[in-house]
Amino acid sequence: MSPISLLGIPIDANSSHLVGTADGPAAIRAALHSGSGNHSTESSMVVVPHLDDLGDVAVANEAGSTADADAITAAVRVELERGRQVLSVGGDHSVTYPVLRAFGERFGDPLTVVHIDAHPDLYDDLGGNRLSHASPFARAMEDGCMSRLVQLGIRTATPHQREQAERWGVEMIGPRELDRFDPSTLDGPIYLSVDLDGLDPSVAPGVSHHEPGGLTFREVLDVLDALPGPLVGADVVELNPSRDLVDMTAMVAAKLVKEIAGAMLTRR
Ligand code: MN
Ligand code: MN
Repeated sequence: MSPISLLGIPIDANSSHLVGTADGPAAIRAALHSGSGNHSTESSMVVVPHLDDLGDVAVANEAGSTADADAITAAVRVELERGRQVLSVGGDHSVTYPVLRAFGERFGDPLTVVHIDAHPDLYDDLGGNRLSHASPFARAMEDGCMSRLVQLGIRTATPHQREQAERWGVEMIGPRELDRFDPSTLDGPIYLSVDLDGLDPSVAPGVSHHEPGGLTFREVLDVLDALPGPLVGADVVELNPSRDLVDMTAMVAAKLVKEIAGAMLTRR
């Protein structure tokens, strides 16, 4: 069985509020290999040996850097070209746009992106930075990286971001209306992007933007379980270890990595 390529992307320069997410990949790796847990999913699949950890993408971590974005796209492209599924860990959410460029090249139409987040991340720019962590899905929609974007857990949409969503036909589903999510309508290869602030801060306090009223960990796993295949790629982003409490968010991220890996291995 071909392994899944695991890439760390240590970037926080495109964050609008706090730094710290550049330390996310190391904290997720430490939690993944911590003696407090094991390497199996909840359905008893031993997944960690199937993760080919390629280390961190070499980035300068500079705000708005197109060179960093290009390095990320190139690193993912190499893995997709050799037929791998790619699971990346951030890093702030800006990393998802360059990752999706590589997926868009490979899968184009149709590619469905399911995005869990408190925020729509559809700003045209934030503070003049068009590669901000508040803008990855605006850039990805402009570039036509995916044919469909379904957002879950959104509870901070501004009028501007509502307009952006309408412009591109982005489906935005808040925590109150999760029952509107119908996985049976999802078609083609699926990419899953998980911003940890989509979870409630009581579950995942180690993020830069605490937004109460979020999803439970079990709700996120239920979404993952419901996704049809093939699950071609995923990311887990926005872990900020400097904000974490007793590493609990790192453990949440590491468990998500395991469960996502299990879903990727069984849905090829
Ligand atoms: Mn986000
Ligand atoms: Mn967010």
